[in-house]
Amino acid sequence: MGTTKTTNATTSTPRKKGQLPTKICATCGRAFEWRKKWAKNWAQVRYCSERCRRSGSSGGGDERT
Ligand SMILES: [Zn+2]
Repeated sequence: MGTTKTTNATTSTPRKKGQLPTKICATCGRAFEWRKKWAKNWAQVRYCSERCRRSGSSGGGDERT
C-alpha cells in the first residue's frame, strides 16, 4: 500500500488543539482546516465546502491554472 511513515499532518488525525491539518481547495485554491465531519474521509476531501465541491467536480480536470 501507499502508507507513509513520515509525520505529515495532512493525512493524520489532529492530536493537539490548534494544529489541525490543512488542505488546499481544488476549486478556489484556498486553504481549509480539518473538520470533524471529514474525520472518516479526510483523505478524499478536496474542496473547502460543498459549494466548491459541486463546481469543482463538474470540471473534470485535476488542475487548471
Ligand atoms: Zn473552495
